[in-house]
Amino acid sequence: MRGRARPVCVIEDCDAPHMGLGWCQKHYRRFKRTGDPLKVRPPVPGQKKTHCIRGHELSGDNVYIHKTKGRRCRACGREWLRDKRAREKGATS
Ligand SMILES: [Zn+2]
Ligand SMILES: [Zn+2]
Repeated sequence: MRGRARPVCVIEDCDAPHMGLGWCQKHYRRFKRTGDPLKVRPPVPGQKKTHCIRGHELSGDNVYIHKTKGRRCRACGREWLRDKRAREKGATS
């Protein structure tokens, strides 16, 4: 039998243990600090990248939005995958 005794955070997609006002420690703290449990720090202006660390242009089709990491470079993703495959091949032969 599954008990429902342990309350969890009311924020959608957050199932951390409840701490106060319906929120988990993280969201509760965020509320105390900013007045909004969903508030995340705004991105620093002037830091919007136009190129990835490997120098691929971050625009158009070369960009995809990662769920948690934000804007990512497709070309790097492809290279990473190719390297990974190459490594796996190398490991088996
Ligand atoms: Zn939470
Ligand atoms: Zn790249």
